[in-house]
Amino acid sequence: MTATIIDGKAVAARVRAEVALETSQFRDAHGRAPSLHVVLVGDDPASQVYVRNKEKAARDVGIDGVTHRLAATTSEAELLALVDQLTNDDGVDGILVQMPLPKGLSEHRVLDRIAPSKDVDGLHPVNAGLLASGREALVPCTPQGCIRLIDETGTELRGLRAVVVGRSILVGKPVAQLLLARHATVTIAHSRTRDLADVCRSADVLVAAVGKLRLIKGDWIKPGAIVIDVGMNKGEDGKLCGDVDYGPASEAARAITPVPGGVGPMTIAYLLKNTVAAARARVA
Ligand code: NAP
Repeated sequence: MTATIIDGKAVAARVRAEVALETSQFRDAHGRAPSLHVVLVGDDPASQVYVRNKEKAARDVGIDGVTHRLAATTSEAELLALVDQLTNDDGVDGILVQMPLPKGLSEHRVLDRIAPSKDVDGLHPVNAGLLASGREALVPCTPQGCIRLIDETGTELRGLRAVVVGRSILVGKPVAQLLLARHATVTIAHSRTRDLADVCRSADVLVAAVGKLRLIKGDWIKPGAIVIDVGMNKGEDGKLCGDVDYGPASEAARAITPVPGGVGPMTIAYLLKNTVAAARARVA
């Protein structure tokens, strides 16, 4: 069997088109565009690229995107004061503080200070708790993208065995919660999991969110499985590669995401979706 390649770029373009429509409906109804405020502290080159991409993506769908650039020497008190100001500003719908923060600034203290209703990254403990409770929440973007990609394959998740490798609050845990909410039987594996190969072999749906180049081998894939590769690693040739050994895995899987061009493009698309969702919830 050779797997169907799940085209994340094409799906993300569709999601962005949906958001553009929602944005123009919001503007018609409320006389203003939804707004996304991104806070970037310091000059980490990768973060600068991510933030620029978010700014452009927001603009392209009609969201009012504003970036607050702060010096690497910014104190935690100054950063918290900005977060408070954005939290209290009625014209601000979404707040995203770009991680990682420079040394000396507490990511937890900063995240905890964002109003949960404006937390478009879905990382505030209140949103994580609401998600775990099966309630309405702002859900992290990459996990939502993973579920959408699975849905695009026409797979009914109910009753299937899903294995998520990785347990971060950014990807592994929320994607597991979303799979559980869709009635999959979910196993979360991590660095201390014994017999990871066998655990993976039990998966009808396998989500890899580790950050280890080609950790998941082709013969760990159950024939006919759906494989979602979240990993972003530098390959031997410097090119972007996933956590899954793509060639052999695509011989066994029914459908698989490539890296790049799979999960990656979905993240920003769902950030835009969350921004409109936050804006709608605030005016409701
Ligand atoms: P993370 O916070 O570093 O978490 C990695 C997880 O993998 C941890 O739970 C860790 O287990 C587990 N792990 C590490 N080594 C393992 C091993 N040998 N066997 C099994 N599990 C192992 O990373 P993250 O933020 O979740 O990101 C994961 C990957 O996704 C990274 O490559 C990141 O760049 C990528 N990513 C991509 C996007 C996108 O838009 N495409 C978005 C976010 C992240 P422990 O908990 O036991 O340490």
